[in-house]
Amino acid sequence: MASKRQIFVRGVPIGGGAPVAVQTMTKTETANVTATMEQIRKVADAGADLVRVAVPRDEDVEALRTIVRESPIPVIADIHFNHTLALKAIDAGADCIRLNPGNIGGREKVGEVAEKATLAGVPMRIGVNSGSLPKHLHELERQSPVEALVAAAVEFVELMEGLSFENFKVSIKSTNVPNTIAANRLLAEKVPYPLHLGVTEAGTKWSGSLKSAVGLGTLLADGIGDTIRISLSTFHAEEEVKVAWEILKALQLRERGPVLIACPTCGRLQFDMDSVVAEIERRLEGYAEPIEVAVLGCAVNGIGEASHADFGITGAKNEGLIFAGGKPLRKVPQADLVDALFEEIDKSLDRGAVEVDQAKAAEGSQWLAKIEEENAGELTPERIAQLEHAAAEKGEADKVLLDEETSPTAGRRFTRA
Ligand code: SF4
Repeated sequence: MASKRQIFVRGVPIGGGAPVAVQTMTKTETANVTATMEQIRKVADAGADLVRVAVPRDEDVEALRTIVRESPIPVIADIHFNHTLALKAIDAGADCIRLNPGNIGGREKVGEVAEKATLAGVPMRIGVNSGSLPKHLHELERQSPVEALVAAAVEFVELMEGLSFENFKVSIKSTNVPNTIAANRLLAEKVPYPLHLGVTEAGTKWSGSLKSAVGLGTLLADGIGDTIRISLSTFHAEEEVKVAWEILKALQLRERGPVLIACPTCGRLQFDMDSVVAEIERRLEGYAEPIEVAVLGCAVNGIGEASHADFGITGAKNEGLIFAGGKPLRKVPQADLVDALFEEIDKSLDRGAVEVDQAKAAEGSQWLAKIEEENAGELTPERIAQLEHAAAEKGEADKVLLDEETSPTAGRRFTRA
């Protein structure tokens, strides 16, 4: 259910079925061109399709000229309260203007900006925030914050349409995740314009990422949302971009760079997987290819659920295994696992195919088979999941899954919660 309308922000399509665009906002003083450009280059490298900069003063507009010229990605000027700045930002070459029609000084001033934007072919983002709804909606806001947010957004849409300006996207921002979801669902039914999604003031990298993943992920999974911004309390805007990409990758809406999968670990783990996974994640950031890399904490289950991964490792106390496409490549000392994994990844990417040394692969297979055999009776999380899945397929999901007769470790009982 993509938006019906599509707009272009300097060549980047938003809405109308275009890939969900990732955007962020610089945290620098815009007038500091050097610092702002440094941050824009970082966010562009991290995968931002668009970047927004705050334009609260005339010196920021001056800087905007240079920034727009030098930026590798389209630049959106963020304007509040002062329509003159919006007019100047269009003159300075801004690729898009973000403004809240409710705080810019009335219909006439909004009209001036719309007229200039039309002449310049510049789109706008119009939107409302839960903290700044127009006075006449305050009573409704007390009764139903969601309806008030949507009413305000629809009023702004009608205002722009009344000014014959339709080159815009719309945003409803709230700090409240359920309200963000409900309001955007309702708005998507009411207007055909592209929607900008975000949970405003989401919080720290940890909590803000989770809130955004839940709020935006729910909407995106329903096909609602055409561009997203993750708002995090960090000076490093590229972190917002990385989180946005993880959400889009998790929903398989867009592909960028590697995907890392890792087991949750359990009492069978025999090496320091925390640091190994962190190291692999860090090193994978240097790769643009959409490879899937798996990290398993032990070889008790074999390669099992990670067999679809392009590459992976599974560890044991002193040794580990590198595998590719579900097949062992070679056994290596545990301490060399990460380096050996990246050697294999690099070789394969260079050659366009995985190179298999048959003797080493056979040695790896034997090592794996021995561990699997030694641990055949272990009820690992993966094996329990397989048993539950098999029982569910047979329609026995509510039954005791294992009893003394069928359990490979007689005496243990597992029931579905
Ligand atoms: S049994 Fe599964 S969860 Fe536990 S360490 Fe091994 S692979 Fe990881």
